[in-house]
Amino acid sequence: MEFNDCSIVLRLGGFRESDLWVHLLSPSRGVFSAFAFGGSKSRRRFSGCLDLFNEVRFHIKSGRGSYLALQEGVLLKGPSRLRHDWRRLGVAANCALFVESFCKGPEGAEKTHALFADLLNCLETDAPISAFLPMFFRARLAFEQGYALDPDFCSFCGASLADSHAHRPGQKNPTVLPVNAQGLLCGGCAGKIRADVRRFPLGRGGLAILRALIRTPVSAWGRMPEDENSQKECAMATEAFLQYNIGSAAGKFLRN
Ligand SMILES: [Zn+2]
Repeated sequence: MEFNDCSIVLRLGGFRESDLWVHLLSPSRGVFSAFAFGGSKSRRRFSGCLDLFNEVRFHIKSGRGSYLALQEGVLLKGPSRLRHDWRRLGVAANCALFVESFCKGPEGAEKTHALFADLLNCLETDAPISAFLPMFFRARLAFEQGYALDPDFCSFCGASLADSHAHRPGQKNPTVLPVNAQGLLCGGCAGKIRADVRRFPLGRGGLAILRALIRTPVSAWGRMPEDENSQKECAMATEAFLQYNIGSAAGKFLRN
């Protein structure tokens, strides 16, 4: 079998003298592995293609076993800032690891590919990068793959979460995300959960960040509210939510 595929290079490494293994993210196949035999030497077949976070149109052939072999590639797009900005490269590599552990196979691949491509665009711009960007990216990816959180209404009583902060005189309890629940709880409902359940408070700032990370493109996250405490609040809550709901896949990643 032979086919063409436009994919992003997520990770690659060498084996034997001149061969490479490559992990790719394709909008139709999700994450998959392939070999580039002679890839570290062949400039003609892979000119400038085999580098991290390049988007490449590959011609691919099934080998005799179940492996795939890259035959040749045409570079469609490659990062430039990431090549010399180690901090941003680290963010991309961090997010790529989560994509690899979380998105196997074609289900949801198109969205994941678009999200990761948007992250790469974001990292190429001059927009400031939040220290919590990898956490926000993981949360967004999980939300898009079905682990959604409603940032507007209490998951138990349906009250508006904006009301629970702004419009109820004497409302002292913030919205919380209990780790054993499927959604956010308003201050009133939060007071009724068992005392031993871990919970993460989200003030108005934290909720605003949560809404931004659910509803705005990654490339617009440079314009997120800059309040670091609110960003931290949101990141802590979403990480705990992921760990509880995704379990070992996120856990494996989160230990890194
Ligand atoms: Zn409620």
